[in-house]
Amino acid sequence: MDKIKMNKIVEMDGDEMTRIIWQTIKDELLSPFVELNTEYYDLGLPHRDETDDQVSIDAGEAIKKYHVGVKCATITPNAQRVEEYKLKEMWKSPNGTIRAILDGTVFRTPILVSGVKPAVRSWEKPITIARHAYGDVYKATEFRLTKPGKAELLFTAEDGEQKRATIYDFECGGVLQGMYNKDTSIESFARSCFNYAIETKQDLWFSTKDTISKQYDQTFKLIFEDIFEREYKATFDELGITYFYTLIDDAVARVIRSKGGYIWACKNYDGDVMSDMVSTAFGSLAMMTSVLVSPDGNFEYEAAHGTVTRHYYRYLKGETTSTNPIATIFAWTGALKKRGELDGNAALVHFAQTLEDASLAVIESGKMTKDLALMWQGDVKAETLSTDDFIAEIRKELEARL
Ligand code: NAP
Ligand code: MG
Repeated sequence: MDKIKMNKIVEMDGDEMTRIIWQTIKDELLSPFVELNTEYYDLGLPHRDETDDQVSIDAGEAIKKYHVGVKCATITPNAQRVEEYKLKEMWKSPNGTIRAILDGTVFRTPILVSGVKPAVRSWEKPITIARHAYGDVYKATEFRLTKPGKAELLFTAEDGEQKRATIYDFECGGVLQGMYNKDTSIESFARSCFNYAIETKQDLWFSTKDTISKQYDQTFKLIFEDIFEREYKATFDELGITYFYTLIDDAVARVIRSKGGYIWACKNYDGDVMSDMVSTAFGSLAMMTSVLVSPDGNFEYEAAHGTVTRHYYRYLKGETTSTNPIATIFAWTGALKKRGELDGNAALVHFAQTLEDASLAVIESGKMTKDLALMWQGDVKAETLSTDDFIAEIRKELEARL
């Protein structure tokens, strides 16, 4: 069989257990079938440190050039990692760096298999969380205050005009935080969400706390409303899908009572928290797709989980691990599918879809990694496999289907 040809995508390698799995997926599930054409960036922590993190910036810029990227999970350094890897600096999260370059929205969708039942009984279809990936508390400036004093909010316009308000007159120590967002970023967040709803033909929900945050959150609500009315309402009506705004507390209550099958757009922090809640309730972070979509048509696919450090330390001791590779496989298939769609490369789309189907079929036949076996409620008995054996089963199933 001839290998499938493809145009270039950006490949971003990562750290620890996911770095090991990354290579196995390439060797066993991709390279035998596809002439992999990637521009390779090593975002593993040692190489980020060597390049003073320039490699993260270069990778983000490369995604702008090729429009499709696939990223392995990476370590976000903290004090302990600085020590462990003898880092020059506590480098920023590559995800944050790349999101800032692409100004995107992250869409996370659970991967459903019969046999893993959602914790919420009413959920029948996936709930996709659309997380605004720019600004707010992630770009905030904070002070720890240790003595009394007056905190003020001051804005000086380019023309010299000033806006000033007292935040609080501190009679004791405390904490203070200043955060921001930009109209342009909120607008692209809105457009990414409306476009994704149209592309996937699902309703879009959006929630903030505009009753309390009468300027900040209210602005998000108004920008969404305005863009929807002017640019998207007609298409939504045609497709029979709806846009619906509600307060975040009301949204939480409705989500729990719903059947699923829609996109829930959230501000940056809300999306961070809610996507962990939704993914855990659906099964696990290892059964979740994640894609960053930028308003000018760039796509970065990744796994939603981290580098699975605990398993990596066991792997280093020579133990066999049973780490779930599904989210990393789906990051690759998502990127290959998107590359194929953009280029009209039907063979590549078909391959990626077949690999996804084969992966889920193996699980539904009762063969899976430990994390899934622990919550398995399927009709067949669960058999726990190591990562390598699980990937080998997927390879067999894939070959049979191709
Ligand atoms: P984690 O890597 O997601 O793992 C936390 C725990 O979740 C694991 O110990 C494991 O539980 C379970 N788990 C996660 N993924 C799994 C998989 N594929 N298969 C089976 N079990 C899985 O989170 P963490 O330990 O908090 O973070 C580790 C490193 O990842 C940190 O350095 C962090 O900075 C980084 N991180 C990166 C990203 C990213 O690049 N997108 C995201 C989050 C965290 P058991 O041990 O109980 O089996
Ligand atoms: Mg989170």
